[in-house]
Amino acid sequence: MDGFSSCGKSTMAKQLAREIGYVYIDTGAMYRAVTLYAMRKGYIAADGNIDKKALEADIVNIMIMFVYNTEKQRLETYLNGECVEDEIRTLEVSSNVSPIATLGFVRQAMVDLQRLMGEAKGVILDGRDIGTVVFPDAELKVFVTADPEVRAQRRYDELISKGQKVSFEDVLHNVKERDRIDSTREISPLRQAEDAVVLDNSHMTREEQMAWLHGALAVATLE
Ligand code: C5P
Repeated sequence: MDGFSSCGKSTMAKQLAREIGYVYIDTGAMYRAVTLYAMRKGYIAADGNIDKKALEADIVNIMIMFVYNTEKQRLETYLNGECVEDEIRTLEVSSNVSPIATLGFVRQAMVDLQRLMGEAKGVILDGRDIGTVVFPDAELKVFVTADPEVRAQRRYDELISKGQKVSFEDVLHNVKERDRIDSTREISPLRQAEDAVVLDNSHMTREEQMAWLHGALAVATLE
């Protein structure tokens, strides 16, 4: 499941995985974890400049995994043994993640890990390059899109509900900026795979989206 930022891909993918007994893999969380690591290590300067050499030399020391928290009933991202699920969702990490995700050595490390995680099949991954690069032979490819304002509103509501102090304008700017960087980068840019089905969920309820997905899955299974 690929698509633009804040389309609700992860919410849909998580629910679908639960319903059909698949494992959900949040590839955006992996790029976010690498970004948090780089921020903590001081590899990203205040002006956004990245110390690529230092990060590349250190990339082998970054271990990412997902652990299900039974109490909170959610899958959580771990960075070198520490739960960073909440920290990787801040606007600060969102502002730095797309430039980090343009780096070839970062993408290579994450794609290798994603292929390993999906080797045994029965997985749903959401991201930007899943259908085009990571698993070009996936049984079903969904490309999700929605109006930028609708997406920013959803992300804004989510951040506010988590107690973060953000402005709608900043969130909208971040959504548009990530779209721009993700779509224009040289390596694995965000684009719709030729054999993907498109879901524009700008004006759909969660129930309608799930019904749409189950329909797409049924068609893919028949093919
Ligand atoms: O999906 P999410 O918005 O959490 O992803 C955060 C960022 O990680 C994206 O804006 C994009 O820059 C990067 N990303 C990527 N490739 C993926 C998943 C995410 O480049 N497969």
